[in-house]
Amino acid sequence: MKKKTAIISGITGQDGSYLANLLIKKGIRVYGIIRRTSTDPFYRLKYFNIEKKIELINVDMSEHQRINNCINKIKPNFFFNLAAQSFVAYSYYNPIYTDTINNLSVLNILEAIKNSSNKTKFYQASSSEMYGGLNYYNKKLNEDSKFNPISPYAISKLSAYHYTKMYRRSYNIFASNGILFNHESPLRGEQFVTKKIVKGLVEILNGKKEDPIYLGNIYSKRDWGHAKDYVEVIYKIMSYKKADDFVIASNKNYSVKEFVNLVCKNLGLKIFWRGKGINEKAIDKNGKILIKVNKKLFRPLDVTNLIGDTIKAKKILKWTPRKNLNELIKDMILFEEKNI
Ligand code: NAP
Ligand code: GDP
Repeated sequence: MKKKTAIISGITGQDGSYLANLLIKKGIRVYGIIRRTSTDPFYRLKYFNIEKKIELINVDMSEHQRINNCINKIKPNFFFNLAAQSFVAYSYYNPIYTDTINNLSVLNILEAIKNSSNKTKFYQASSSEMYGGLNYYNKKLNEDSKFNPISPYAISKLSAYHYTKMYRRSYNIFASNGILFNHESPLRGEQFVTKKIVKGLVEILNGKKEDPIYLGNIYSKRDWGHAKDYVEVIYKIMSYKKADDFVIASNKNYSVKEFVNLVCKNLGLKIFWRGKGINEKAIDKNGKILIKVNKKLFRPLDVTNLIGDTIKAKKILKWTPRKNLNELIKDMILFEEKNI
């Protein structure tokens, strides 16, 4: 029987590598879009030992004609669009680039699917950031909740979300959105707050880092899940009999400060919070400053509270996450300790 084929854009990223590993295990032939970099972009694929099992396509998401050619030539069963300028804070500094990659590239893929490969099933990596800042505090957000994007990242993702829906409705293309809340793993990018905290604290404890960890708004709350669980549901979304939109979350949220406390508890590290506002800091029993709030790390606007409601995914896709936040933290700590 002919193997099913999938193109994954963003294959060198956190979700791309977890998803590639899953699809390869399922016997799917994986093509991965990568762009040229001067440093090694394959460390996540190497972590799963799958870099040689992937057919690499060297193209930047902004090269629209070359992306079209790939889709036309491969005519894949699946296109998982995970590539993005994914860092919200950076999107304020480079909104045009962010929109070019996160939004225009999506429109380009959908056009290519419509024109030359209309049996290809398309997955768009939508984001809880699209809900933005104006929802009622701590209201669980679902597929019907109002979107209020407040960053260039969120605006670009919301536009791409609507294009995905539009191509599904107008042209009968199998095009689904996964509205994923934050998900982390040992392979999370280093700029994101969970990785920054876990890596920083493990390094401080092992004498590899002298300076404190600087953080921005530690009262911001996120609904954090594990990337391994979330790529499994991405595959379920694409295997469901019809295209649709699904919220994927853990249905619980914690502040950044609570996350720090949980990591410290897992590390057996006693910390004490002192001061208020931008003077707030965490010290250890000897008075050494481990964490310091830094004004520069606050965003022009921040989404300060996110929590999801996955009733739909639970009912239709029969999905519930396996790993809770504490298990995620344990995985992340173990990885850092091995790599110290
Ligand atoms: P990530 O680790 O930052 O990975 C992003 C990927 O996109 C990388 O492989 C990156 O390649 C690639 N990329 C960026 N710009 C590109 C370009 N111009 N041409 C080709 N490739 C490009 O992100 P992630 O955490 O895996 O997230 C995957 C997707 O889900 C993203 O679309 C993200 O916005 C979305 N999302 C993530 C979360 C989350 O909590 N993780 C939540 C909701 C939605 P390089 O390795 O070369 O940089
Ligand atoms: P995001 O939800 O995709 O923006 O994921 P991040 O991990 O980048 O940020 C999650 C939350 O943590 C946001 O509300 C940030 O403002 C907050 N935060 C506080 N300090 C930091 C920090 O030093 N780095 C990052 N990345 N976020 C921080």
